[in-house]
Amino acid sequence: MPRKKLIAANWKMYKTPDQTRDFFRDFLPLVSGHTRDEIVVCPPDIDLATAHGSAKGSNVAIGAQNVHWKPEGAFTGETSAAMLLALGITHVIVGHSERRQYFGETDDTVNMRLKAALEAGLTSICCVGEVLEERESGLTDDVLRRQCVRAFHTISAKKAAKLVVAYEPVWAIGTGKTATPELAAEAHAVIRREAAEVFGDEFASGLRILYGGSVKPENASSLMSQEEIDGALVGGASLDPKSFAAIVKY
Ligand code: PEP
Repeated sequence: MPRKKLIAANWKMYKTPDQTRDFFRDFLPLVSGHTRDEIVVCPPDIDLATAHGSAKGSNVAIGAQNVHWKPEGAFTGETSAAMLLALGITHVIVGHSERRQYFGETDDTVNMRLKAALEAGLTSICCVGEVLEERESGLTDDVLRRQCVRAFHTISAKKAAKLVVAYEPVWAIGTGKTATPELAAEAHAVIRREAAEVFGDEFASGLRILYGGSVKPENASSLMSQEEIDGALVGGASLDPKSFAAIVKY
């Protein structure tokens, strides 16, 4: 079965609720009737309710940028899967490199977050990717394999039904440098092989693996035309409705 591409916006720490409302006012007409791809917007938590209300009844789903592994508790600044579900949120990003780089996210906490998100039924976009020194030292495949094995630890294929992986080479995030489509496809093949080891061949052949790292309207179609690339996780270029719509319609 062909894999339906998923095009996801990661707004990072940008936009207020008013700016979120304005985005959807301008964005939804540009993608209305677009069913070829699944479209998701992941705003900061403060905007989730506004985004959900603005996108209601449309072809755009809303995701969070992080999730905690406990249902509730004394965890200041965190949000649980149950809280996201209560708001109507269907997707979540887990293990983004900025969380790993600036907020102490480890392979183990990524695993705990991912497990909780999948168990709650959230479509979970698990981010993996190497830093520049690792690529230059020929360690990319090892890093991707390690991040995948650790992230998938003790998750069954059944529980992983809503798993999506995003390959995001850290050196390409927000830098304007993009992996060539061929290079991205090679990394995706490594991830798919690792998923096959953990979850089995059938699961791996249906697993969606997104590319993220300076995706723009100008490079979206060459990336998306790679058979191994099942969509995109878009940061900077997703903040503008016209630019994100152009990527969705690559
Ligand atoms: C991201 O935030 O996941 C990302 C890929 O950012 P950018 O598109 O800006 O490189």
